[in-house]
Amino acid sequence: MILIVDDKKENIFSLKTLLESKNFEVDTSLSGEEALKKVLRKDYALIILDVQMPGMDGFEVAEALSGYSKTKDIPVIFLTANNTDKKFITKGYESGGIDYITKPVDPDILLLKVRTFVRLYEQTLSLNEAQQKLQLEIESRKQAQEELKTQVEHLHSTMESLPQIAFTADNQGNITFVNHNWYKYSLSSARFPETHPDDLNALQNFQLNCHSLHAPVEREIRIKEIETNTFRYHLLRIIPIAEENKVCNWVGTLTDINDQKLVESKKDEFLSIASHELKTPLTGIKAYIQLVERVVTKSDVPTAPLYIERAKDEVLKLESLIADLLDISKIQNGQLQVNKKEIDLEKIISHAIDTIHQTYPSSLAIERQGDLFDQPIYADAMRIEQVLVNFLTNAIKYSPDAEKVIIKTEVQEDDILIAVQDFGIGIPAEKQKHIFSKFYRVEESSLKFQGLGIGLYICAEILKQHQGNFGVESKVGEGTTIYFTLPIKHHITYAKATY
Ligand code: ADP
Repeated sequence: MILIVDDKKENIFSLKTLLESKNFEVDTSLSGEEALKKVLRKDYALIILDVQMPGMDGFEVAEALSGYSKTKDIPVIFLTANNTDKKFITKGYESGGIDYITKPVDPDILLLKVRTFVRLYEQTLSLNEAQQKLQLEIESRKQAQEELKTQVEHLHSTMESLPQIAFTADNQGNITFVNHNWYKYSLSSARFPETHPDDLNALQNFQLNCHSLHAPVEREIRIKEIETNTFRYHLLRIIPIAEENKVCNWVGTLTDINDQKLVESKKDEFLSIASHELKTPLTGIKAYIQLVERVVTKSDVPTAPLYIERAKDEVLKLESLIADLLDISKIQNGQLQVNKKEIDLEKIISHAIDTIHQTYPSSLAIERQGDLFDQPIYADAMRIEQVLVNFLTNAIKYSPDAEKVIIKTEVQEDDILIAVQDFGIGIPAEKQKHIFSKFYRVEESSLKFQGLGIGLYICAEILKQHQGNFGVESKVGEGTTIYFTLPIKHHITYAKATY
C-alpha cells in the first residue's frame, strides 16, 4: 500500500486517482503528524510526501521515519515545489530509498518512480523473508549439529568405557574413531589390527565391501596383540547405522574370547582323555574277570584271588576318576561343599601316606619332615586328605626315576604350611601359574604321563573353601614342591561363617 501525505485534498485526490487507476492500493494523510501515526500502525510499500506542509513539513516527517526501525527502510518520494529543496532531502533520510518529483507532478514520471520503488520494496520484503528463513534454517542446523556433536561425544565416551576394542567407520570403511583398547592391537587408528592369515582377513574384507553391505557382520577372528606378539581369538561384530534407509556409519567391537576358546578346546581335549582314562581300568577289569573265569573253569582256583585283587585295584581307579568328574560338576554348579570340624592334621597326613602306600605298594619312600602339629585344625578331613593324596600321587607320577618324596609341615604365625616335595621332572617356570587351572596339563609331559588335568583344580577349589593358600615352586629336571596353607586360628573363620 502507498501512503500519500499532503495537506491539500485536491492534490491527494489527483494522485490517489492516478495511482488507483494503475491498481495500486492507496492510503492518505493530510498532515505529517497523522502520517507518522499511520506508518506505525500499518505497513506501507512507499510514502509520497509533500515537502511543504503546515505543522511538520515533509523533511521533518522523513527524519522522524528514519528514527524508527519499522519505518526507516520505507522508500519516500518527496513532492517539492522546486529543485532547490532537493539538497535538504538527503539530510535526515539517508538509509532508505529516496527520490523526489517537482510540482506540477508529471504522471508518467511519478508512475515510473512509484513502480520502481514498490518493486524495490517488494523485493526487499521477500529478500528479508528469505533471509529470515535462512537464518532459521541456519539456527536449526546449528542446533542439530550441536545435538549430533553431543550424541557423538556420548557414543565415544561410552565406547571408551567398554572393556572391548571399539571403533566406528564411515560408509567407505574408513575408521573414524577407535577407543584406547584398539592400540593394544594396532599402532595406528587408521589401520585395522593384523588378522591371522587363516581368518581370511575379515576386517579388510569389511573395509573393501562395506559400501555394499547392509547386514551386521559377525565372526570369530584372531588378531595379533602387539605386546605379546601372539594372535588372540576375538568376536568381531560390526553393526550398520542407517539413516533414511541408507547405511551411513558402522559401529564395531572386538571382544576377546581367547580364554573361552582355550577352555572350549581344553574341554574337548578333556572329554577325549576322560573317555580314554575311564576305558583303561574298565578294560583291565574286563581282562581280570576273564582270567578269573578261566582259572575257575580250569579249577586253578589258587590264582583267582590275585586277579580279583587286581580287578579291585582297577575298580578303585575307576571310582576315583568318577569321584573327580563328579567334583568337577559340583564345582561348576557351586555345590562343592566342605564339612569343617576340628580335625587332627597329623592323623590325616599319616592316613594319606598309608593310602599312597596301599595304592602304590612298590613305589618310592615318603619321608615326613618339619614341625609336628598337635593343635586341632578346623577343616574337612576327607577333603584335606584328598588334597594330600593328590599332591603325593602327582609327586610320585611325575618323578619316575626318583627315590623319595618329602612331605613337610611348617607352623607359621597364622597358618600351617604343608608341602609335598619331589625330585622329578619339574615344571617350566612360565607354566607353573597354570597348573591349578581347569583341564590344564603341561604340554611337555602330557604325552608321557596319563592324567586329566583336573586334580589340582579340584584341590585349589577345596583349599579356597578353607581360606587356604596354595602354590608351586619348581625347576625343570630338579623337582617340584607343591604346597598349601590352612589357617590355625579357626575360631575367627568359624565366627565369620556363622555370622
Ligand atoms: P593330571 O591329572 O594331569 O596330573 P593335575 O591337575 O593333577 O592333572 O596336574 C596338572 C598338571 O600339572 C599336570 O598335567 C602336570 O603337567 C603338572 N604337575 C602337577 N604336579 C606335578 C609335579 N609334581 N611335577 C611335575 N608336574 C606336575
